[in-house]
Amino acid sequence: MTKIKSMAVFCGAADGNNPAYIKGAHTLGKIMAENGVDLVYGAGHVGMMGAVAKSVLDAGGRAIGVINKTLNEREEQTFLLTDLILYPSLHERKDAMYAMSDAFCILPGGIGTMDELSEIMTLKQIGDLNKPIILFNIAGFWDPFRIFIDRLISEGYLKPEYEKLVTYIDRAEDILPTAQKEIDAIDNKK
Ligand code: AMP
Repeated sequence: MTKIKSMAVFCGAADGNNPAYIKGAHTLGKIMAENGVDLVYGAGHVGMMGAVAKSVLDAGGRAIGVINKTLNEREEQTFLLTDLILYPSLHERKDAMYAMSDAFCILPGGIGTMDELSEIMTLKQIGDLNKPIILFNIAGFWDPFRIFIDRLISEGYLKPEYEKLVTYIDRAEDILPTAQKEIDAIDNKK
C-alpha cells in the first residue's frame, strides 16, 4: 500500500472574510506536519497560502513551494520554505505540482484556486490523474460549488459518476484519512 507522503494544497492568496478560513488553513498545516505529509503549494507567503505553509513549518513539517518566474519576481518572501522550485511558466509549474503530490486538498480561494481545482478535476475526468481531490469545506465554503456540480449533472454536461471526482470534508482531521482511503482503493484496483 502507498502511504500518503505529500499533498498539494490549493487556496487563496488572500485571507478571505471569515476568520474560520485562516483557522482551517492553520489546523490543516499542523496536521500535515504531525503526520509527516509534505506540503506542496504555490509558494505564496500571504493569505491562506501563507497560513498553511507557516503552520506546517512551525510544527516541524516540510513546505515545498513551486512557483513560476513572474510570480516569484512579485512575491515578497517573508519566511524560508524547505524548498523552492522555480519553473518558467504557470503551466509547467502546475504540471510539476500535480506530479509531485499524492493527493490534493482545496481550501477557500479565488480564481487561481478555481483554475487549479477545475484543471485537476478535468485531468481526473479524462483519466490522466488518479489521485484524491478533497475539498475542505470550511464554514460551508464549497456548498455552492457542490450545487453547481449537481447542476452540471442535471443539465447533462457531467456524467453522474463524476460527482465522485471530489470529496467534501468538513473537519481538518478527516482530510488525510479520507485521502489515504482513496489511495488504498486506487491501489487495490491496480
Ligand atoms: P487565488 O485563489 O486567486 O487567490 O489564487 C491562489 C492560487 O493561485 C494559489 O493556489 C497559487 O497557486 C496561485 N497564486 C495566486 N497568487 C499567488 C501568489 N502571490 N504567489 C504564488 N502563487 C499564487
